[in-house]
Amino acid sequence: MDNSRMLGRTGIRVNELALGCEHLQGKEESLVRDVVARALEKGVDFLDVFMSEPNVRTYIGHALSGCRKQVKLQGHIGSVWADGQYAVQREADVCRRNFDDLLTRLNTDYIDIGFIHNLDDPKDWEAFIASPTMAYVAELKKQGVLHSVGLSSHNPVTALAAVNSGLIDVLMFSVNPLYDLLPPEQEIWSYYVDKPDFSGLAGIRPERQSLYRACEANGVAITVMKALAAGFLLTTERSPYGAAMTVPQCLHYALSRPAVAAVMLGMQTVREVDEAFAYYTASEEEKDFVPVLMHREQGTLDGRCMYCNHCLPCPAHIDIAEVNKYLDLCELDGVPAATLQEHYLSLPATAADCLNCRACEKRCPFGVKVTTRMARAKAAFGR
Ligand code: SF4
Ligand code: SF4
Repeated sequence: MDNSRMLGRTGIRVNELALGCEHLQGKEESLVRDVVARALEKGVDFLDVFMSEPNVRTYIGHALSGCRKQVKLQGHIGSVWADGQYAVQREADVCRRNFDDLLTRLNTDYIDIGFIHNLDDPKDWEAFIASPTMAYVAELKKQGVLHSVGLSSHNPVTALAAVNSGLIDVLMFSVNPLYDLLPPEQEIWSYYVDKPDFSGLAGIRPERQSLYRACEANGVAITVMKALAAGFLLTTERSPYGAAMTVPQCLHYALSRPAVAAVMLGMQTVREVDEAFAYYTASEEEKDFVPVLMHREQGTLDGRCMYCNHCLPCPAHIDIAEVNKYLDLCELDGVPAATLQEHYLSLPATAADCLNCRACEKRCPFGVKVTTRMARAKAAFGR
């Protein structure tokens, strides 16, 4: 079974379940080797190495010895090691030193996607793109040391500015059903401290939905961090939905958002790798996140497509979630239909194939008027 996806316009193809290496920091070398080996055995071919700590970089480099070319790497510019600890730095010389260290320790002379690391404030993004460090990033790209440039961010406003700038091909972003409720400037821990009952959160934030669709429209791939919301979603007590989610439900949610190419899942033991890959043997029912969302979102999401495909099967074999994604891009984000048409027409079946049977509408938990939307999609895209 092919579980790979294109990383947007980069031309790079990766498997959708990828290894976020953060939690390998501080582990014995033998464990790092075992986890990486197991992940590769399971089909992982994409790793995020944002950490600046020297040993974990070295251990991952050893673990990838002999198979560097079979994997794609995310490496970060601005994640530095200072005074024995991780820090974010924007000064060009410091970034250069730490990035050189990454290449040396990983025993490679290129990084597939070089990320501008952890930029959340829109003002910081504006300052960064005019800085010597941005010039350094551009120089690395020109030299072929970076094959593509990305940004890691937690803020949808900053991320959207970066996507619209045309300067990044990949966005590493926190995507999960909890963060999707949060106002752009809010950070989960501060929100939780103020409002442990999660009051004040209602519906998926439009800023985040717009960001996902802008990524899709611009061919900017999203690689997902924090798919489990730092564990918040896995317990009933801390889930804003009043019900715990499972790992497969969280993965399925992230992987069904527009533009998402891969989830960089933190796996810190061989067992966790195996548990993550149970996603591929889970039934559709086990992966279905809708019942959990309905605990809270009943009413607030009415009429809006959540791209869950809960409405299938369709006798005309239409991928209803995909058609709805294209229609939202067109209607909500103003992307010209002509820009989307080629992708839309490559779907195995389009809105023109709709039989108006309404079976989907009976199944949709969010009351989406699918047949009306099919008519609008047909009018917009010509079939
Ligand atoms: S129409 Fe309803 S069931 Fe179908 S993908 Fe959209 S929200 Fe899900
Ligand atoms: S109404 Fe159209 S889209 Fe919905 S199930 Fe029937 S054929 Fe498929």
